[in-house]
Amino acid sequence: MKRYNSNDPLFVRFANGDINQYEVVKSVAETTQDSETKEIATKALDKQFLDIGVFQTDFKNCVKDITEFGITHRSRSFLDSYLSSSLLLFRREQGLGGTGSVETWYRPIGEGTPWVEGAICFNLASFIRSRGSVKEIKSCKTCSRIFVHKGEHAVYCSESCKAIGGGNK
Ligand SMILES: [Zn+2]
Repeated sequence: MKRYNSNDPLFVRFANGDINQYEVVKSVAETTQDSETKEIATKALDKQFLDIGVFQTDFKNCVKDITEFGITHRSRSFLDSYLSSSLLLFRREQGLGGTGSVETWYRPIGEGTPWVEGAICFNLASFIRSRGSVKEIKSCKTCSRIFVHKGEHAVYCSESCKAIGGGNK
């Protein structure tokens, strides 16, 4: 059953298997502010996609790991291995003297790199950076889907999972 919330961050939809590689690339093509990235993603939409199902499973495990243990050496090296091998990372500070917000973005190093995987890892890393912690990333106690929620005690992804899981305990 798909219980897909289009407001969920990309990494959540991908970890839950709600979207595949094609939909990730489509989303990148539509939302990136970087013209070179847009070009690479748009071009990739016309090509045949390599299966990244193994990465999808590994990624979900990494997110689960983070919900349980926070950022550890293990999850950090997993994310870094994709980020550093496939993306150029950019960073710009808005405002003077570091008082403003920081804008970060990426560009694939090249078409042949695992940049789709990198883009997913970047999406997760940006989410964590913007929230200042991993606390909002959760794994549902009933169905083990990944979801994001501001509530400190939220443990169920939906009302129906809450009902199955036995109320608000
Ligand atoms: Zn659930």
